[in-house]
Amino acid sequence: MSKFFSQKYSALTPYVPGEQPKDMQYIKLNTNESPFPPTEAVAAAVASESAKLQLYSDPECVELRAKFAKIYGIGTDQVIMTNGSDEVLNFAFMAFADDAHPLAFADITYGFYPVFAQLNNIPYEEIPLASDFSIKAQDYIGIGKTVVIANPNAPTGLCQPLSDIEEIVKSNPDNVVIIDEAYVDFGGESAVSLINKYDNLLVTGTFSKSRSMAGARLGFGIANASLIADLNTVKYSTNPYNVNRMTAAAGCAVLNENELYMANCRTIMQNREWTTCELSRLGFEVLPSKTNFVFAKSSRIGGENLYLALKERGILVRHFKKERIKDYNRITIGTAEQMQALISAIECILEEKTL
Ligand SMILES: *Cc1c(COP(=O)(O)O)cnc(C)c1O
Repeated sequence: MSKFFSQKYSALTPYVPGEQPKDMQYIKLNTNESPFPPTEAVAAAVASESAKLQLYSDPECVELRAKFAKIYGIGTDQVIMTNGSDEVLNFAFMAFADDAHPLAFADITYGFYPVFAQLNNIPYEEIPLASDFSIKAQDYIGIGKTVVIANPNAPTGLCQPLSDIEEIVKSNPDNVVIIDEAYVDFGGESAVSLINKYDNLLVTGTFSKSRSMAGARLGFGIANASLIADLNTVKYSTNPYNVNRMTAAAGCAVLNENELYMANCRTIMQNREWTTCELSRLGFEVLPSKTNFVFAKSSRIGGENLYLALKERGILVRHFKKERIKDYNRITIGTAEQMQALISAIECILEEKTL
């Protein structure tokens, strides 16, 4: 740390992204990317936009928001486009949380929530998940704090019923409830249907997982128009051109073929069910997932040891050192071939252990 670094950030522990190693070709099952590249139409849209890079991007993302609003059945004033959904989460923490509206989120959830809270100097409470890793809705009902819930949750993959989410939103009318739906396209139940009913509900989402655009950085927030206006106040006070030209063009091209990406999600869901069965057959405990990953533990090999043994065989999964989940690995669901390679590798690793 230099002597110039502001005191206000001196205690900050930054988020640690999943590794993106360059030393060899891994089967990458560690950062919940899509195994399916975007189509030719996306590449073409990006290429043609790249000829206009001397011009600023559209800060209002007019074309992108229009296409998006149509697909989601909302008004164009009910959505904001951001640089990944990480950005809309940060904007939301800045806009809707402070000393008078401290944050509440689960002890086991997306690792960026405590980081954004610390960055913005917002007090936060971490609420333990139940022993089965589900969210106990009663813990959040009437809590009187700015609530953030990833639904489905990460890294557990578990999904809460929409009725629980509605109770939490309804019982905290003086606070914004943020539902992070990064994984909703893999079988979850979206809260977008409730935005006209509750003025304190913000739903966030991303093109990173279900729409093959992790490297382009495109996220969104959906809420009633006045919450979106507040988010825009923060956006225009930090980075008006937060969505660059190529990303906006890619987003439009993806939405033109939305059905194709949703079909990819259904393929991932089939591969997920296959992987869950195979891991169970090998004695793993696998949490029932509504995401593009599974969270699994074996009684025969520790979480970190399995992670290391798989890495040696060229397969990357995500291991978290946090005490409560250190026996588990989070395994992204890829193509059928990738999942077969994973299962074969795990079979070898377990066999070698028993020899
Ligand atoms: C991946 C993820 C995000 C953010 O993804 P972006 O790439 O920034 O859009 C947000 N929330 C959860 C729970 C995630 O897993």
